[in-house]
Amino acid sequence: MSQSPVNRFKALTLAEEQIVDLDLQLLKRKLRITETPCDTKALVGDRELKAFCSNDYLGLANHPRITEALVEGARKYGVGSGASHLISGHSAAHESLEKQLAAFQADHIPNARALFFSTGYLANLTAITGLARLAPRGEVSIYSAKLNHASLIDGVRLASAQNNASVTLFDHTQPELLLTDLQKDTKALKLIVTDAVFSMDGDLAPVKKLLNIAEQCDALLLVDDAHGFGVLGKHGHGVLEQEQICSDRIIYIGTLGKAAGVSGAFICAENTFIEWLIQKGRPYIYSTATPPAIAHALLQSLKIIDSEEGAQRRAHLNRLITIWQSEMKFSKWEKVLSCTPIQPIILGSNADALMAAKLLDEAGYWIPAIRPPTVPIGSSRLRITFSANHSEDDLRALINTLNLIEQRVLEKTH
Ligand SMILES: *Cc1c(COP(=O)(O)O)cnc(C)c1O
Repeated sequence: MSQSPVNRFKALTLAEEQIVDLDLQLLKRKLRITETPCDTKALVGDRELKAFCSNDYLGLANHPRITEALVEGARKYGVGSGASHLISGHSAAHESLEKQLAAFQADHIPNARALFFSTGYLANLTAITGLARLAPRGEVSIYSAKLNHASLIDGVRLASAQNNASVTLFDHTQPELLLTDLQKDTKALKLIVTDAVFSMDGDLAPVKKLLNIAEQCDALLLVDDAHGFGVLGKHGHGVLEQEQICSDRIIYIGTLGKAAGVSGAFICAENTFIEWLIQKGRPYIYSTATPPAIAHALLQSLKIIDSEEGAQRRAHLNRLITIWQSEMKFSKWEKVLSCTPIQPIILGSNADALMAAKLLDEAGYWIPAIRPPTVPIGSSRLRITFSANHSEDDLRALINTLNLIEQRVLEKTH
């Protein structure tokens, strides 16, 4: 093992300089260690903080029946899957989970089949790069919403690099412009890619309109419902259920580490597309299957999402959203007032967002400052999220605290 000390020194110096630079721009991120399960209160160091920042919208991440199912799954299947799905890692638990996930979308995607992944990041890379390989190099156009999640952006970049796909960004609030672009497009394969719920704003994509455009222009529509699955729709089946949409042009992505409270993700689409992704989806093929116990636990989570308990959790979550909307309507904070559990307060600069987060921290709240590149430059924010485990009193106490610090923050920022 010989390593040139000169090269190593150069790389280390570069890394040190870049990190100092990030710090100067107030863009350095820090890990905080929690000692407790994900819930509405978190022990961070020796302080108990009231957390309004996780994506555990239904409060299932620490649910006793799902924990029990994980233990049961481990007893039944052991720990590791041992291999990728196509070699020998595809267990009966994975298969049952995929059947159940497909059943959730059966009214919305004809001939639906689901494929389970260890993360949403991997599912998005697989779906976008895999679908792009349906057409010859240079014969693919991808239309990607500007505020899409990083994993969609990276999937699009990879498809562009591997398959010479052309990429056009679109503003999801102006779908008519997308229609104009698509009508001129003569490529063999056209793919529209969007978040269903925009993760940093909480607003919804106009999924019905996008589907309509996809149908008019012979395109596919990939919808990433990471923040809608479990939350939206009467049974929590997600955005397609809520919007009552049905089409075999839809490639649906759901993630299972947010409202579902566990880990993983899935692609659900018309069976032929899934069959193709199993053949050609490189991130799927070349990655070890998730531990089967996780799939076993997820079956329990899906049961809860689909049950009366799930409906009650969604109803409570919607009550919290309504309280927030009515209480915050007249506050001076710049906000979105979305219809989802994601409620941002926009501060603008990194310094202001960090100051607001610090004041909240001093008041006992855990709500981190979200900064670029996660959000556009100049729109640094607090991203407040609700869980069905928050009580109405928890929410009212947060609103009181926000009212108290409003004056202090707004004086300094204007
Ligand atoms: C969180 C998220 C992902 C990634 O899912 P993971 O399972 O956390 O990798 C993908 N898309 C969106 C919109 C997300 O918010």
